Amino acid sequence: MLPYGTLEEASAALGRNLTMAETVWFNYSAGKSDYYLYCHNIFFLFFVFSVAPLPLVFVELARLAGFDRYKIQPKVRLSGSEIGRCYKDVMRMFFFIVGPLQLVSYPSVQMIGIRTGLPLPSGWEMFAQLLVYFVVEDFTNYWIHRFLHNKWGYEKIHRVHHEYTAPIGFAAPYAHWAEILILGIPSFLGPAMVPGHMITFWMWIALRQIEAIETHCGYDFPWSPTKYIPFYGGAEYHDYHHYVGGQSQSNFASVFTYCDYIYGTDKGYRYQKKIFQKLKGELESNGDQNGGSYHFSTQDIKSD
Ligand SMILES: [Zn+2]
Ligand SMILES: [Zn+2]
Repeated sequence: MLPYGTLEEASAALGRNLTMAETVWFNYSAGKSDYYLYCHNIFFLFFVFSVAPLPLVFVELARLAGFDRYKIQPKVRLSGSEIGRCYKDVMRMFFFIVGPLQLVSYPSVQMIGIRTGLPLPSGWEMFAQLLVYFVVEDFTNYWIHRFLHNKWGYEKIHRVHHEYTAPIGFAAPYAHWAEILILGIPSFLGPAMVPGHMITFWMWIALRQIEAIETHCGYDFPWSPTKYIPFYGGAEYHDYHHYVGGQSQSNFASVFTYCDYIYGTDKGYRYQKKIFQKLKGELESNGDQNGGSYHFSTQDIKSD
């Protein structure tokens, strides 16, 4: 809730005219409690979980010509009812775990000092904070995820997320309820270390999930803008982790590739990639145009 009654009061407090974005924010948030603003995340998450995976689900079901060559595991196809079941399971977790977690976690957001007032942060401030959030999340998630691949962690908790050996966008948040709770820690740690504005927090929650959905989408597009992000893992990188499955000791990182490189947990992936690229080169030199894309296939080599 903003401590100003009118735009003029806000302008006087800032000592300047409000920008257009600040005026919009004032008009929207002035009469709303901080708790209510924080709870917007529930709606954003519902929207992202429901809508962001749809384009590629459509591509998958319609089998649009031209897209097949970008599918990472082309021999695995899910039916509409299987995809629907995944979404239903995700929504059950959303209503019983994710939503309530948002409702009760407000005191921690209050404690770390996520602000809702004016002035709004600059674009650079938001960018820098989001970068910190992604780096912190990636590092922390790496170790928790690696821990969940021990015998106990995998069998009791993480096995659920690995039910999809060829993931789809809807399967990004598909996990055991305990994993959803545990992985809330890496998501929260960045904002706790570098607290910012509520808008930055909203963006972080939404972007992190959009990134996870892209990473699980099952397609690797060479023209994806994320290819320009340094050290970004992407769909093919994480798909390999699902493809290898429970015994996987490779590609644990959620966002970037450098943790796996530094700690030596990408050796199997890099070896496999080298073999496939060699095969691809050979197929292309033999004039086989279908060899043009390097993608895994569950029926092909399976080693880690
Ligand atoms: Zn895993
Ligand atoms: Zn995954």
